Amino acid sequence: MAPLTPDITRARRLVIKIGSALLVDRKSGLKTDWLKALAEDVVATKARGTDVIIVSSGSIALGRGVLGLPAGTLSLEQSQAAAAVGQIRLARAYEEVLAQHGLTTAQILVTLEDTEDRRRYLNSRATMETLLGLGVVPIVNENDTVATDEIRFGDNDRLAAQISVTIGADQLVLLSDVDGFYSANPAVEPDARRFDLVERITPEIEAMAGDPVSEHSKGGMKTKLIAAKTAVAGGCAMAIMKGSIDCPITALAAGAPCTWFLAQADPQVARKRWIAAMKPRGRLQVDAGAVTALRAGKSLLPAGVVHVSGDFERGDPVAIAGPAGEALGQGLVRYTCVEAKAIAGHHSGDIAQILGYAGRAALIHRDDMVV
Ligand code: GLU
Repeated sequence: MAPLTPDITRARRLVIKIGSALLVDRKSGLKTDWLKALAEDVVATKARGTDVIIVSSGSIALGRGVLGLPAGTLSLEQSQAAAAVGQIRLARAYEEVLAQHGLTTAQILVTLEDTEDRRRYLNSRATMETLLGLGVVPIVNENDTVATDEIRFGDNDRLAAQISVTIGADQLVLLSDVDGFYSANPAVEPDARRFDLVERITPEIEAMAGDPVSEHSKGGMKTKLIAAKTAVAGGCAMAIMKGSIDCPITALAAGAPCTWFLAQADPQVARKRWIAAMKPRGRLQVDAGAVTALRAGKSLLPAGVVHVSGDFERGDPVAIAGPAGEALGQGLVRYTCVEAKAIAGHHSGDIAQILGYAGRAALIHRDDMVV
């Protein structure tokens, strides 16, 4: 049976990655008309009930123009300065075009460390979840001002893939300067053919992407393929398409050329697999009432916990055991072991009084748990 190409009109949660070249012109600055058209895409997508997250580059390109920095490669410090100047304008541009449609935007700046540190990862995930629940359109970029070379993504293709997996998006579209993934570099080989669909990223496919980051552009085909690997393994289908046309998402819905990389699992399933594969750093023993609640798909509240052991930090994986010590599953805990011990057996409403600060109601949220 032929695999189904993802349908953008049926996305549950869509991440759109926008490259600098689409948004910023060397001479004239921000490409306002293109951005206005993109806002229409966002409105149409949200009207279908799809959550939209935008990962946008452009801060460095915008900032270097404002600062009048010379053409050519910028030093790290210059890029960081340009990013600081440009990001504020970039965020305002999105804010303005989307506000015209009554949409609220939020700025989220992340670093590679934010996605690698489980505690920060859980925090940013929770914030984005809340924003999406409120109908907000998050505008994400790398926090270039603090990210130095060793600790940065450097390209927003991979950042977008990581964000997609973090928030359980089912589709990611990379708006690019090429209309898809080719069997060879089409600029060099006239016979190169574009794939409509890549079901699996095999070594043969990888070989077609060419050499790693020797190119001038930050996000060459190689980084796009790395992004695709992250996305599809995390349950998110990814498309590469040419973004320079007006309303690219509407065009994609109408059948514009692109390459889709098929997701290898449902995002939720992939996430649970990821959690299940971790080595637990502690153990929470729960009562019979909690067992019933967990089996019914509820979060684990402190009230149902009878014993806490191990040495864990917030965001660490912990095992969950039943009244007789039987293994029930595991999850990412939202409190440290010291805090968990203090609030075990208590109602969530008492957490603030016990700890002296308000925390989250659940010890382990159901999305962060495998039972
Ligand atoms: N974060 C950079 C910026 O906003 C761009 C990175 C990229 O082009 O992928 O300028």
